[in-house]
Amino acid sequence: MKFLNWLSQAAISHPEAIALSFKSNLIDQEIDQGLNQRDLNWSYAQLETLARHWAWQLQKLGLKTGDRLGILLNNHPRYLILIHALAKCGAIGVFLNTRLTDLEIIWQLRDSGTDYLVYDGATTITAIAVTKQIENLNIIDLSHWSITSLATESIDLQTNSQSDLQNNWLDFEQIQGIFYTSGTTGKPKAVPLTYGNHYHSAIASTMRIASYVDDNWLVCMPMFHVGGLAIAWRSVINGTKITLLPKFDEQLVLDAIAGEQVTLISLVPTMLIRLLKHPQCQKLQKSQKLRGILLGGASANAQLISQCLELKLPIMPTYGMTETASQITTLLPTELNFKIGSAGLPLWGIEIKIVDLQNIKQELPTGAIGQILVRGANVMAGYFNSMGNRSSNQEWFSTGDLGYLDSDRYLYVVNRRHDLIVSGGENIYPSEVEAVLCQHPAIAEVCVIGLDDQEWGAIVAAAIVLKRSQDHQLSLHAIRSFCEEQGLSRYKLPKSVYFVDDLPKSASGKILRQELIRGLRDVC
Ligand code: ATP
Ligand code: MG
Repeated sequence: MKFLNWLSQAAISHPEAIALSFKSNLIDQEIDQGLNQRDLNWSYAQLETLARHWAWQLQKLGLKTGDRLGILLNNHPRYLILIHALAKCGAIGVFLNTRLTDLEIIWQLRDSGTDYLVYDGATTITAIAVTKQIENLNIIDLSHWSITSLATESIDLQTNSQSDLQNNWLDFEQIQGIFYTSGTTGKPKAVPLTYGNHYHSAIASTMRIASYVDDNWLVCMPMFHVGGLAIAWRSVINGTKITLLPKFDEQLVLDAIAGEQVTLISLVPTMLIRLLKHPQCQKLQKSQKLRGILLGGASANAQLISQCLELKLPIMPTYGMTETASQITTLLPTELNFKIGSAGLPLWGIEIKIVDLQNIKQELPTGAIGQILVRGANVMAGYFNSMGNRSSNQEWFSTGDLGYLDSDRYLYVVNRRHDLIVSGGENIYPSEVEAVLCQHPAIAEVCVIGLDDQEWGAIVAAAIVLKRSQDHQLSLHAIRSFCEEQGLSRYKLPKSVYFVDDLPKSASGKILRQELIRGLRDVC
């Protein structure tokens, strides 16, 4: 199925509407030479003009349909212009995490068979370093590509005359980009997502949370993660506005919410916790326009949810993953009170079922914890360059997560399958023990893990970060007694406890359990 390029469509339907606003409080050099102002807007017509011009320039440099182009950029207007230019060239973006080491980037460039690499002032050093290690990689410095000067030129949006575009159609089967998973459980996996996957994800999201003409989605997540990029597709399909920030920065986010009529924002739980600790956090509460805080990427603990309920923040707990082009389920603010702990209902067109841990063919009844399987047109067809490809997205995809559905079919995500602790033949879900430990007044953060044990197979251990005010250490005995008082069965009680200064986390705020376990082994 083919569609007129989504940006071209938006530029024809509502050319004057603001597509993008960029806010920064950083000094210019940090963002680089391309911008002289801290605050810029682009209409859909302007973005279309720039994307066409960039597509034309990329084609002049040899970029062809199907070529893979690595994107080594932080959040910046050029990210948006580039993804639309790539769509017009029919080239595939390879979305690189700029926080990775040179070696990790080299591995991803090789793994994805990337032909071109684009970078700017902020990523030059990495780009130069990785280029030395990869033969035949064409590198392009985007620092001086105009992001504003064409904005006033008029072109006929109905034709391709200006930039000689050969391809201004989007094919549902065509791969838009290769995205790497966060690498929380091991080496990141390459996920090819098609325009069809993004389209269905955008429509499904909109059907659940709605879209209004004055919607303005604040993007402070990195665009190289699917959670950030998906906002770009949703907004262009709905013809709404994005306010882009160069990075997550509490002050910048709170100022944008207060001053920019932001209606929606996507955050991972650690970002929200940081915002709530900020002295100006009341800006979140006071915003008249903010109608949704999409909260996903990792589970939000009970403390955070109840704090948000108290503050009447319109959070939308969401479950999603790279392989599903972002959202799978979302809980709406109106449902928060009576579905505490749930990640919500599957989005339109997305199905979920819960199956037995050992037998994927056996579907489990309401309330029983099992593997979460998902099916829908937003789900990738298969990993790139690796085993286990699915022949079509009509098949069920195994998420690797455990959870259950309640009688209204709301999803509760319990843990990753990988993190399940099997001790003496009993299944122990770390999240259940963590939820109890989190209620202890001296505990700031906790992660429960299974440590290998000859007798039991694995034993329950807890890595605990104490609140700053607590200068004494809790004893193992005190912790076990506390858990027992809270009603936790004896076999679930921690058998060892480690006090740590902090828990290792990924860039998106997920606890890196394997790293933690390795660290604890070194201590032992
Ligand atoms: P990798 O697959 O490389 O180990 P990853 O799974 O962390 O990394 P992502 O695709 O970024 O990579 O994250 C998706 C995962 O994040 C989900 O499979 C799930 O484990 C977790 N997750 C996302 N949303 C939630 C949520 N609301 N509650 C609990 N876990 C969540
Ligand atoms: Mg994963």
